[in-house]
Amino acid sequence: MINHRLYKTEAIVLRRRDLGEADKVLVLYTPYLGKLSAVAKGVRRPTSKLGGHVELLTHSMMMLARGRNLDIVTQSQILHSFPGLRSNLERTSYAFCAAELVQRFTEEHIENQPLFRLLLNLLLYLEETDSPDLALRHFEVHVLGLVGYRPELRRCLTCDSDLRPVSNFFSAAAGGTLCPICGTRDRLARPISLNALKVLRFLQDAPTVNEAKISLDPRLSKELEGILTEYITYLLEGEVKSMRFLRDLKRGASLPA
Ligand SMILES: [Zn+2]
Repeated sequence: MINHRLYKTEAIVLRRRDLGEADKVLVLYTPYLGKLSAVAKGVRRPTSKLGGHVELLTHSMMMLARGRNLDIVTQSQILHSFPGLRSNLERTSYAFCAAELVQRFTEEHIENQPLFRLLLNLLLYLEETDSPDLALRHFEVHVLGLVGYRPELRRCLTCDSDLRPVSNFFSAAAGGTLCPICGTRDRLARPISLNALKVLRFLQDAPTVNEAKISLDPRLSKELEGILTEYITYLLEGEVKSMRFLRDLKRGASLPA
């Protein structure tokens, strides 16, 4: 008999795909092991005991066995199933954006406990907040910081001068702000209003989403979304599909089947 090495970890299910006839491969995010892929065997069978415990976005305590290629989920006990998220397509869409960002900005097996906590806190917060946009912006700013792309928001990245309280520029390629003089010379930089800059700084300084309470008018909210989406798309070299889905959803466009 093979002696599997078992281990236990908290995990949030970021993604799932079918494998073979009845299995699924899960992409998990864990506090100490970072991102990892594991097989949940037989979960597509109606009789599976594991099935209900490995849904997308579920936060569970899992027991895994080290496999030759992929590890295998042997047990899973739900810690949070986020019913308030699941009952609402819009809230679920925000959560999917967060899960996709974590999945795409991380490599496997690199520990990042603050990122795990950030994701878990956001999922809990999205269950009840009335300002999911602001919560997602807070999440984006902090994910960027935790994976090494903390946006510069106080100095000009070209001439190193302190920014003055006027309309400045934001450059995705540079990774943050440019002063009006340098920004005008950079074809790819976009203007950033003083208010948008202030909100981004406020979000960056707010350690948790619970402390990031502020009311935004729709125009400012849109400007912030545009700036962060552009920066994220630039870094990932492609768009975040869940974000496009969310934008379409909010616009009331017809949803993909
Ligand atoms: Zn400058």
